[in-house]
Amino acid sequence: MTIRQRDELLKKWKNQLLTRKETLLTEVKRDTDALMNDEHQFTDAVDMASAETEKSLAFGKNNRDRQTLEQIDAALKKIDAGNFGECVQCDELISDARLDAAPFTTLCIDCQTELESEKQRYPSGRNP
Ligand SMILES: [Zn+2]
Repeated sequence: MTIRQRDELLKKWKNQLLTRKETLLTEVKRDTDALMNDEHQFTDAVDMASAETEKSLAFGKNNRDRQTLEQIDAALKKIDAGNFGECVQCDELISDARLDAAPFTTLCIDCQTELESEKQRYPSGRNP
């Protein structure tokens, strides 16, 4: 791949990241507002229970979105720093196909696979 082609790819990924960031920022703000302005009065336990479930689902989504936003910011910084596309675990280059699907990814496929299999082995454990 020539430097020019690489530049074009970087530009494309950067645009993808910026678009995704904007969408996520809107969603996070909306979900946060919804979670904060939760002043409904519930008349029975069933309503309350289903509202709690909805709330915890929204809370989980909100957390994931915030994490993705952090990854996007990190990826944008890396593009500027010139080390975009390196795996944070092993420093190998992440494949273009993988970056195309998710430009904010920080792990190469090998490290990702390893992480997933660890998660399955220790479902409730935290990663060090
Ligand atoms: Zn790796």
